[in-house]
Amino acid sequence: MAIINLVGADLEEIEDAVEELNEPRYRARQIYSGIYKRLFTSWDQFTELGKQLCEKLRDRYSINHLAAQHVFVSNDGTRRYLFEVSPKQRIESVFIPEERRDTFCISTQVGCAVACLFCVTGRLPMLRNLMPGEIVGQILAMQADRGTSSKRLNIVIMGMGEPLNNYANVMQAIRLMTDEKGMSISPRRVTLSTSGIVPGIQRLAEEPVAPNLAISLNATTDHVRDLLMPINKKWNIATLLEACRKFPLAQRRRITFEYVLIENMNDSPEDARRLAGLLQGLRKKVNLIPLNMDPWIPLKASGMERVLAFQEILVGRHITVNIRRPRGGDVSAACGMLAGRERPRGDIALPPPKPLRLARGVKGQRSKGV
Ligand code: SAH
Ligand code: SF4
Repeated sequence: MAIINLVGADLEEIEDAVEELNEPRYRARQIYSGIYKRLFTSWDQFTELGKQLCEKLRDRYSINHLAAQHVFVSNDGTRRYLFEVSPKQRIESVFIPEERRDTFCISTQVGCAVACLFCVTGRLPMLRNLMPGEIVGQILAMQADRGTSSKRLNIVIMGMGEPLNNYANVMQAIRLMTDEKGMSISPRRVTLSTSGIVPGIQRLAEEPVAPNLAISLNATTDHVRDLLMPINKKWNIATLLEACRKFPLAQRRRITFEYVLIENMNDSPEDARRLAGLLQGLRKKVNLIPLNMDPWIPLKASGMERVLAFQEILVGRHITVNIRRPRGGDVSAACGMLAGRERPRGDIALPPPKPLRLARGVKGQRSKGV
């Protein structure tokens, strides 16, 4: 009989697993807490269960974290974890240490079908959705490696993949992360970023436990957004912002709008003014992200002067704006650079990137890399 990994199972599923072994259901609570709170990875660590039960459990179930194949450490302390989730299928997660908290950026899919022009993950073929255990497994593995307490943790679902295209598994993972009996990460410290899957946003709005919402907007006209993010042809800017306006926000919560700044594409003062207009009336903050360049991306980052000018226009309209400082760029860990690569910016062991299709009339600028 195949051994089943219990990482990713919720309490009820563990109760069923225990019952199958003809053991009382209450045992499941101890197992649940061992997996998600105490970060146990071996049945030997469950001394309170007794030797006999541990033997029975071992025969049927495992509690394996994802095993990191490589950990790349940046000069700024950021760590990029490479996990092989199936033979030749790799995902990445990033640990970003900060003074008062640690941020874990996690993946939800192997590849991404949304295929945004500026994103390295989007250049990969979409291979599969991650299972709930593979999603929380990234956090458990990084937590075990770094010894980070859940109180210091910030989770950003901004790694490889489009989380709302893997809705059920991502939601099960979020419920596990935020369960007080287990990982106990406050939902206020979990942020899900989406490229704008409108039915997913509407579904999320109905969830009893919902993460913070971040929207990758990245353009102020449908023409440019169609080009940068093909998903815009399905749900355009107006439809997306309409769904955002309807999204229920708890007190003092805001939607984050992410805006990757790309030279001569979406970074003009006019864009900044248009952005302020589009977001009028929304409870929001804006994160400006200077494009992280990569040889796989045919675009160039806006210069700092343009970024600051863009910011100033938004600030002048009383919008909270942060400029996201690139972290871990030297180990290809920054936003949009995740591709399951074995070496920073190396592309071995991966299929060749999809060919680029640029709309006529728009020049793709080939970056020289960094
Ligand atoms: N699929 C989701 C979450 C993963 S992408 C989404 O698109 O929101 C996470 C963030 O990285 C998005 O805001 C995206 O706009 C940004 N991003 C992608 N490629 C980037 C790049 N090359 N430079 C900077 N940010 C990038
Ligand atoms: Fe997918 Fe997000 Fe990258 Fe777009 S930006 S390709 S949605 S991971």
